[in-house]
Amino acid sequence: MSNRLYLFNASRKLRREVISKALEPICQVKELDVREVEDCRDIIEPFVEAAFNPARGQAHGQKVLDSLHSTRVFGQELGDDGKLIIIDRDLYSDYATNWCFGGFCPVSNSLGYILLSTARISDETLGEHIVRHELGHMFGAPSEGRTNTVDILGLHCSNNLCTMQQQLSVPEALRYAHRIKSAGIFPFCEQCVEDMRRYRPPERV
Ligand SMILES: [Zn+2]
Ligand SMILES: [Zn+2]
Repeated sequence: MSNRLYLFNASRKLRREVISKALEPICQVKELDVREVEDCRDIIEPFVEAAFNPARGQAHGQKVLDSLHSTRVFGQELGDDGKLIIIDRDLYSDYATNWCFGGFCPVSNSLGYILLSTARISDETLGEHIVRHELGHMFGAPSEGRTNTVDILGLHCSNNLCTMQQQLSVPEALRYAHRIKSAGIFPFCEQCVEDMRRYRPPERV
């Protein structure tokens, strides 16, 4: 199984240091080979623009990923590696009401994709928290059948001050991200750490 994670930071807003900080605790749990793709804006932007809906002023997240995944590079060459893609365009989906941050998109026998938009992220602490939360999903936290989980917009952790808790609004997420940071603790609970340590991407046919 791949332990490689490719970073495509096509955002002008989110500094690479914020992404590195988001990754730090996960790299303490898992041995990861993180590779940043420099100057990736020219690679990613055409896919975002092709999925852009001018009437909404937003790009359709799943369309961005589907078209990236249909290319030889993303679909085959980087097939089982994790891909973290960060863009500035606001995103929408068929499921969310008005907009979404994006999120983790699983792919069989692969670490899958994370597509995130910085458009609604006003604060670096929140940016770091959201990137880390989606990486937690990429590495299997929380796992199904475990205790201390809730099904709110997908499976989430209910342990206090764990990054894998789900907040339901941006102000709540902002407050929660700052609470975790000022607590000065490891940002994942022990159960989520164990989930990530043991994780293998599911095989599906
Ligand atoms: Zn989540
Ligand atoms: Zn947890």
